[in-house]
Amino acid sequence: MTFLNKTTKLTYMETIYFDNNATSPIDNQVLEILVNTLQLELKNPASQHGPGRQSRKQLEITRKQVGGFLGGNQQGSTEDTTVFTSGGTEANNLALLGICAACPQRGRLIISGIEHPSITVAAKILEKDGWDLRVIHTLHNGKIDLEHLGSLLNDKTRLVSVMLANNETGVIQPITEVVAQCKNHGALVHTDAVQAVGKMSVDFQLLGVDALSLSAHKIHGPVGVGALLIKNGCPVAPILYGGFQQNGLRPGTEACPLPVALSKTLELYLNSQDANVSRLLDLRLRLENGLLRLFPSAVVVGQESLRLPQTTCVSFPGVDRQALMMALDVAGVCCSTGSACSSGSSETSPTLMAMGVAEDVVEGAIRFSQSIFNTPAEIDSVIDILSGVLPLLSE
Ligand code: PLP
Repeated sequence: MTFLNKTTKLTYMETIYFDNNATSPIDNQVLEILVNTLQLELKNPASQHGPGRQSRKQLEITRKQVGGFLGGNQQGSTEDTTVFTSGGTEANNLALLGICAACPQRGRLIISGIEHPSITVAAKILEKDGWDLRVIHTLHNGKIDLEHLGSLLNDKTRLVSVMLANNETGVIQPITEVVAQCKNHGALVHTDAVQAVGKMSVDFQLLGVDALSLSAHKIHGPVGVGALLIKNGCPVAPILYGGFQQNGLRPGTEACPLPVALSKTLELYLNSQDANVSRLLDLRLRLENGLLRLFPSAVVVGQESLRLPQTTCVSFPGVDRQALMMALDVAGVCCSTGSACSSGSSETSPTLMAMGVAEDVVEGAIRFSQSIFNTPAEIDSVIDILSGVLPLLSE
């Protein structure tokens, strides 16, 4: 191996990694479970022989665990469904495309203006297919405009998808209010909880949504596994075709080790959530207060709203965000200029645009996202590095 070797790993460890909303380092305990489960060489859970049946048993136990950790209903005939997917993107695609495909007639589909591309692009495909797509306005504070949602809802509305917390600003969305409004019109509700799980309370039944997406690698699980929780009775059609695995909803040979690792991730990070949130909040406040003290013209986007504890979208008006991100990269600080899907491009952030943030604030905005593996000393180093870099980049 010439590219990814131990030296590469060492280089990573020397950087300050503040891009955990893009992906987060795998927890050693999760890695151990993943490796141990891989080493068991579990057989195909669809095979009828003894080893196959053993894998099936393990997989179904894991499915129940994952649904249970997130507050899914586990009661016999009214049990909610947990479909394992390759991650958040597939879960979101399955929710939108699968729920709409299961509707007897096309109708109105409503999404927010701050969704991840795995929602917005899927919604545009449905629009091309004849769905009446509407986008909820976003308020300047980063929350969706509930009044506008109220004006969009009609009796032809089949599905509304609003994320639980935004990946760029961290702003937490009023999902229970969304559900209350939608139920009056008989519309189903999906929420993308990919960034929220492990960083705020996420209870499927309490939220009242019909479907919820999650992804392991945003909370120290492995990349390549996620899930869609589906409320009992919510119709969903498959978007992949093949065998009968996962009740035909997600055909393809089921991977046991990845769901097992997802379950371990949830167990670890939901059990320690309160302590982690308080630690993350301390780090975030240290960063934001430090930056605002040094750069009074800096803007913390969505500051007035309830936000995830690990996310800071901060803008330095007059500074080019791409140049700033690159300068930080050279200095060994990993952050991002928006969602990982648009990083590397200079595309302006759809979330900040939807919020109606001033152009110079959008142009100068970068995202820092911490994890519990970060330290106060790293926060101080980043502030120090920024105090050296920013005057060189200011217009
Ligand atoms: N939804 C949100 C809010 C995200 O931030 C992301 C990833 O950045 C996704 C969905 C996609 O998840 P995955 O990377 O597991 O496909």
